[in-house]
Amino acid sequence: MKRYDCLLFDLDRTLWDVEKNQKEALRVLYSRYRLDRYCPDFELCFEYYEKSNSRLWEEYRDGKVTREVLRNTRFEEMLDQIGVHDLTLARQMGDDYVRLAPTFTNMIPHATEIARELSQRYPMYIVTNGFVETQHIKLRNCGLAPYFREIVCSEEAGANKPSPVIFEYALRKAGVPHTRAIMIGDDPETDILGAVRAEIDTVWFNPHHTPRTIDPTYEISTLPELLELL
Ligand SMILES: [Mg+2]
Repeated sequence: MKRYDCLLFDLDRTLWDVEKNQKEALRVLYSRYRLDRYCPDFELCFEYYEKSNSRLWEEYRDGKVTREVLRNTRFEEMLDQIGVHDLTLARQMGDDYVRLAPTFTNMIPHATEIARELSQRYPMYIVTNGFVETQHIKLRNCGLAPYFREIVCSEEAGANKPSPVIFEYALRKAGVPHTRAIMIGDDPETDILGAVRAEIDTVWFNPHHTPRTIDPTYEISTLPELLELL
C-alpha cells in the first residue's frame, strides 16, 4: 500500500532555481538602470543585493517586516552601498524586479521531469512563503503548473512557514490527514521545522550537504532520489 496520499512541495530552491533566476533578473535591471555608472562590477552589486535580500527574507518569515518593505528595502540598501541614495529609483527597481524575476525559468536539475512523473501518482501542492502573484507566474512560465493542484501561499493561509498553520491549511485543501502527506523542501528552518510541527513527514532536499540542525524523515541531495522514496 502506498504510504502517502499527497505531496507538498516547496517551490523556491527546491524546484525553481532562485540563485540563477534572481541573478539573471538583477543583470537586466543593472543594465536597464545603467548601474555600471556607479558600480562597474556587476558581481559586487549583486553581492550587496543578495546580502540585503536574504536578511530581509528572514525578517519577513519572522513577521518583522511587511512584503512592501522587503520588496523595496533590498534595492534601497543595494543602491546605498553603491552611493546612490534614491528612494524613487529603489521603489521602481523593486516593482520591476517583482514583474521580471518570475519570468525566468532556470530549474533545479531534474525538477520538471520528477514533478511530471510524481504528478501521475500523487496529487501535489506547492506550499510557499512567496507572494501569490509571483509564484503563479513562476509556475506557469516554467511549465510546472499542470503538475500541481494548487499553490498554497502564506499570504492566503495567514501564516508563514514554519508555522504549522500553513501546513494545516494545505492539508485541509488537499483533504488528507497529516499522516498521509509528506513535505519536500530545501529549508530546514521553514519547510522541515514547519512540517515537523504539523506532524507531517518530511524530505529534506539538501543538495549542498549542509550539516543537519533538525531530523527530517528522509534526506536527499538530488531530486531523482524522490522516485526511490515515493
Ligand atoms: Mg525553498
